[in-house]
Amino acid sequence: MYEFAVTPAMTQLRRRGVEVVEVAPESLAAELELEAGDRIIRVNGRAVRDYLDFRFQTGGETELILNVIRKSGEEWEIEIERDEGEDFGLSFENIVPRQCANECLFCFCKGNPPDARPALSFRDEDVRLSFLYGNYTTLTSITEDEMRRVIEQRLSPQYVSVHATDVDVRAYLLGVDKKRADISAKMRRMMDAGIEIHAQIVLCPEINDGEILQRTIRDLAAEHPRVKSVAIVPLGLTRYNTDERLTPVTPEFCERVISEVTPVQRELKKCLGTTFAFLGDEIYLRAGRSVPSRRHYGDYPQIEDGVGMVRSFYEDFARLWRRLERNSPRDAHRLDGTILTGRLFAPVLKDLIERLNERFGTCLHVLAVESRYFGSEIVVAGLMTGSDILAMRDRIKGDFIIMPATVLKSDEAIMLDGMTLESLRQQLNLPIHALDFAALTQMLTE
Ligand code: SF4
Repeated sequence: MYEFAVTPAMTQLRRRGVEVVEVAPESLAAELELEAGDRIIRVNGRAVRDYLDFRFQTGGETELILNVIRKSGEEWEIEIERDEGEDFGLSFENIVPRQCANECLFCFCKGNPPDARPALSFRDEDVRLSFLYGNYTTLTSITEDEMRRVIEQRLSPQYVSVHATDVDVRAYLLGVDKKRADISAKMRRMMDAGIEIHAQIVLCPEINDGEILQRTIRDLAAEHPRVKSVAIVPLGLTRYNTDERLTPVTPEFCERVISEVTPVQRELKKCLGTTFAFLGDEIYLRAGRSVPSRRHYGDYPQIEDGVGMVRSFYEDFARLWRRLERNSPRDAHRLDGTILTGRLFAPVLKDLIERLNERFGTCLHVLAVESRYFGSEIVVAGLMTGSDILAMRDRIKGDFIIMPATVLKSDEAIMLDGMTLESLRQQLNLPIHALDFAALTQMLTE
């Protein structure tokens, strides 16, 4: 569940142009007397809908005419000559995303508690966000305008939730009719125009697994290299999504998926030179298996979808270890604190941190946080909430807490249950560091 820094469209009427939110001092835009609150509505006579349009329409142009609606309501036309590559020094409002028109059986919005913040129920389906942030879209309701824009502005790659190439199964999963579920012509049109596609399959036991999964992988592999990769991630059921058509993912199911998909991966690696269809880390860990080697993942094409994160973490950890071998942490014994993670990753992390403690004298403890908020089926760290952490306060040791930065909203220090980091800090009376791996390395090596 990725909550990105956007204002949901439902709270805003679309206005013309794109709003300037900041002008860098002494920049070209400052020289032109543009200000925060101004809206740029046209560039060289072409309408501007958002900052992607602005970027596309100004890119490479040295002579420009901007039409601006000033904050005061006054309309301006500005003629500009600029040096090649000269930046305007403008920051713009975020993109207002489009909503999806599907009713997916497994939609994460159905898994939210009734008191969840409204932003968590926002169903984005936007090809611009797919290009910018790797958000998946289903393409079921992409408009002709959006399709043309993807092609004209080369919004590549696009991340597409395919789930199944069998149209009946896809229609059932997405809760749409067969005509809308069939995206083969749309994908072909994008691919013919040179747009690369990364596909996703949310694997639902007894619906799109087994034969259906095999066929989906092979149909997509037939389009390689235009379809670059496929991420196969397991259905995640919280205690609020109780749809009887969905079967929970079990360790046995994960084991079966691994045994069915591994031979296909080997075959694809031989003929395409890439594993192509990657299983999410969760599938290996739930099955009690170790994750595949570095070579399996290539350039980690779907790491943001939880594919290869664990392997990449091992690599980062090995680099950290080498660094510490060169320069042991000063006052290592003072690094006495608790690292929070989800139940799934905890055994992996515990093993690594215990080795670190033994070798370098640190006193770090790993604590697997149970998900009470979403339910015990949820085992990933990214869905940890403030109330889950508070419920485990008796097991927190040491002088500080480290938790993954992904637990917080991307533009605000707030967790999925609405608790702020500051409030958690006060209630636990301990410093809390929300860190990514680079920041953790810095903490251990400085
Ligand atoms: S595409 Fe499906 S899973 Fe995604 S937001 Fe829409 S209904 Fe939910």
